[in-house]
Amino acid sequence: MPPRTVSCPRCAAKVIWSTDNPWRPFCSEHCKMMDLGAWASESYRIPVVEFDDIDEQNLPTDGPPLN
Ligand SMILES: [Zn+2]
Repeated sequence: MPPRTVSCPRCAAKVIWSTDNPWRPFCSEHCKMMDLGAWASESYRIPVVEFDDIDEQNLPTDGPPLN
């Protein structure tokens, strides 16, 4: 009996449908996490700090300095 293959819903890679693949029907943990929208989770976040930096630099300075 030939192994059954499916296409990864995320990247369309061929995935062997087997209990050896805990990420099925995805090809990998990467694709599964992406598809689950786990970007904001602490276990899978991309180090994007640009927005924070921009916000800080663009903050208006209110009032006189505290020193
Ligand atoms: Zn994939």
